[in-house]
Amino acid sequence: MTFQKIDGKKIASELRVNIKKQTERRIAHGLAKPGLAVILVGENPASEVYVRNKCNACEEVGFYSLSKTFPYGVTEQELLALIDELNNNSSIHGILVQLPLPEHINEEKIIEAIDPLKDVDGFHPYNIGRLALRMPILRPCTPKGIMTLLKSTGIPLEGKEAVVIGASNIVGRPVSLELLMARCTVTTCHSRTVDLAAHVKRADIIIAAVGIPGFVKGEWVKPGAVVIDVGINRLETGKLAGDVDYQAATKNASWITPVPGGVGPMTIASLLENTLQAAELQSD
Ligand code: NAP
Repeated sequence: MTFQKIDGKKIASELRVNIKKQTERRIAHGLAKPGLAVILVGENPASEVYVRNKCNACEEVGFYSLSKTFPYGVTEQELLALIDELNNNSSIHGILVQLPLPEHINEEKIIEAIDPLKDVDGFHPYNIGRLALRMPILRPCTPKGIMTLLKSTGIPLEGKEAVVIGASNIVGRPVSLELLMARCTVTTCHSRTVDLAAHVKRADIIIAAVGIPGFVKGEWVKPGAVVIDVGINRLETGKLAGDVDYQAATKNASWITPVPGGVGPMTIASLLENTLQAAELQSD
């Protein structure tokens, strides 16, 4: 079986060019620049890199962005006060709180405080609920990026067996809802799933979001299956690895995403799409 690589880097870069053009058109029509506020708590080097990348991406497409960094010991009240201020700031259309938050902060409470129309991460129960009811507004970024990648293959999704490995709130669950909305038959696996390999082996579409390098074995991949590897795992060698044994999986897959350069770049591109969408919703 010859496989084709799904080039997330290229697709994301095309999306960004398009977003930049739409932003220029908005500004030419006298509308405000889309504005994104990113909130970071503590000194997690990985989170700092993510926040910097998000702000740089905003600048590149002509958005306004601001980042607010708090020390680890910030109180819930202080964070809630900032979110309230940003909810009422008309130059900010999107608010993103970089997760994870320290243990003394209630993550759900913080996310629920964000105005759902500014919830560009798509994690607010309002936005997840709308996705579950097949009337999404702001959709979680990584799952949205995955759907864009699947669409790029041109393969019709209707009726396909989709197996999602991982059931987290940010990837596994919402991507399962997306696939269901695309009319796939969806199985969501997690750490208590019995005979996981048997589920994966019948999948036309495999979404791996586990966080364990090389977890999905090549022989689990049905000939012709599409494989989307969401995992980003740092090996001891310093190299990045996905959740799929890539070399072995390419022997059976028809389409597959690499790591890096697959889902990763799509997450930021989807965040930019959501911020533009939020700005449009708020201008209406
Ligand atoms: P997470 O919150 O840790 O969730 C992992 C999921 O995998 C859980 O549902 C867990 O099951 C399941 N799981 C763990 N061990 C398993 C096993 N042995 N068999 C079957 N299922 C198992 O992780 P996440 O945030 O969803 O992220 C998953 C991966 O995607 C990570 O590598 C992360 O870095 C990456 N990621 C990438 C992007 C991107 O932009 N590319 C974005 C987000 C995440 P339980 O529910 O039963 O615990």
